[in-house]
Amino acid sequence: EAITIQELANRMAERSVDVIKLLMKQGQMLKINDVIDADTAELIAEEMGHTVKRVSEADVEEGLFSTEDDPSTMEARPPVVTIMGHVDHGKTSLLDAVRKAKVATGEAGGITQHIGAYQVEQDGNKITFIDTPGHAAFSQMRARGAKSTDIVILVVAADDGVMPQTKEAIAHAKAADVPIIVAINKMDKPGADPNRVRTELLSEELVTESMGGDVIDVEVSAKSGQNLDKLLEMILLQSEVLELQANPDRTAEGIVIEAQLDRGRGPVATVLVQKGTLKPGDILVAGSEWGRVRAMLDENGKQVSEAGPAKPVEVLGFQGTPAAGDMVAVVENEARAREITDYRQRQIREKASVVASGTRGSLEQMMNRLQETGRKEFPLVLKADVQGSAEAIAQALNELGTDEVGARILLSGVGGITESDITLAAASKAPILGFNVRANKQAREAAQRDGIEIRYYNVIYDLVDDIKAAMSGLLSPER
Ligand code: GDP
Repeated sequence: EAITIQELANRMAERSVDVIKLLMKQGQMLKINDVIDADTAELIAEEMGHTVKRVSEADVEEGLFSTEDDPSTMEARPPVVTIMGHVDHGKTSLLDAVRKAKVATGEAGGITQHIGAYQVEQDGNKITFIDTPGHAAFSQMRARGAKSTDIVILVVAADDGVMPQTKEAIAHAKAADVPIIVAINKMDKPGADPNRVRTELLSEELVTESMGGDVIDVEVSAKSGQNLDKLLEMILLQSEVLELQANPDRTAEGIVIEAQLDRGRGPVATVLVQKGTLKPGDILVAGSEWGRVRAMLDENGKQVSEAGPAKPVEVLGFQGTPAAGDMVAVVENEARAREITDYRQRQIREKASVVASGTRGSLEQMMNRLQETGRKEFPLVLKADVQGSAEAIAQALNELGTDEVGARILLSGVGGITESDITLAAASKAPILGFNVRANKQAREAAQRDGIEIRYYNVIYDLVDDIKAAMSGLLSPER
């Protein structure tokens, strides 16, 4: 655990310059944006007459996401399916076709709404489809630690075969360890060649059953509706193999599939329940937001009084808008919900301040120094190939300083120049110096966009000489 000097000062409502002075007395020469560890922060806080209460993540999050449920409480639950595949191979058409074929039946007067996921019934068994096709959302959720999907339907157009995004989708599904069912789509088209698709899939190490492997494939047409039932049956078959289970009789846990701020209704989030049963009146936290469930609506816009495992519902009643991929948990009361979300919001702020500290720190410090001493700062971002060079350059640059002007190294890092270096530099209008390193493509583009100069060197002397010349331009004109 660590904190920037700025954030520590903020929390104590003290001036950061006083914190810096105190650290200096203890022999630590640090800047406003530098990060200190929790022990140091505690010492400083106590010395400044504050009482310290350390709140750890473990304290706050304790018991929030329960561990395994007792096996005797587990019941079979519906599978959650995501459709992936190359653009134009029919992901959206397939989602629409399945929904039209299944949801409409018997739902008199129901108006289907896009809430981010929907459920269909096949032979009395439910299947949940995530309504956002593609692997971007899927992996975004995964990056946040959430597992949203049990089965991936890989759509491959029979007249087009395996394409770049097909391969990407396979890679994402495999990385997430989620089984794949192949839907060979557009079988109604004259050029359809399903065997070519199966052969091409071999090079992606997806061996379908007819090729002697165990990957299920179904020839379908989203247009004619051919084999949609069979596809659903295969999903159910695969889910039986997976033995998907959850305990419905407990407080709910789940994941946010979609969320937005609705003009009339306030924050609206589609929650996919994964464990337990969600009910109106429940108090839940999702990421750094919380709310009390005011109403739950299904994909037909109908109010529902409970949502069990694998059921997606639109939840009304959040105080703020959570983010897709946020994990959801029901907590015992409002105070607990506030405690958790306050803590998480603070964490987010701190992280942002550590990341952006170069910005705020340098600007604030630059202004402070200018006022206090009349001394001018020359901000720089330094990236070098090895730590030794970075240190040698930083030292040489610091020695260049006079009473009137000095180098201010916002960041002295090791490795290639990245986009985040540019962001840092841009906020302080600082040039970037690369010593035996280059900028990657995104960084070069960002630098061009933000008007940030990147200078490359491979001789320390040249670098120092250039900065010396630039700094002399900053010297106050003779009065
Ligand atoms: P996505 O980009 O993967 O979501 O693909 P879309 O669902 O938007 O479909 C791309 C195009 O292929 C559209 O013009 C669809 O009408 C068409 N399409 C999708 N499925 C089929 C199908 O089974 N047969 C035929 N003939 N066309 C299809």
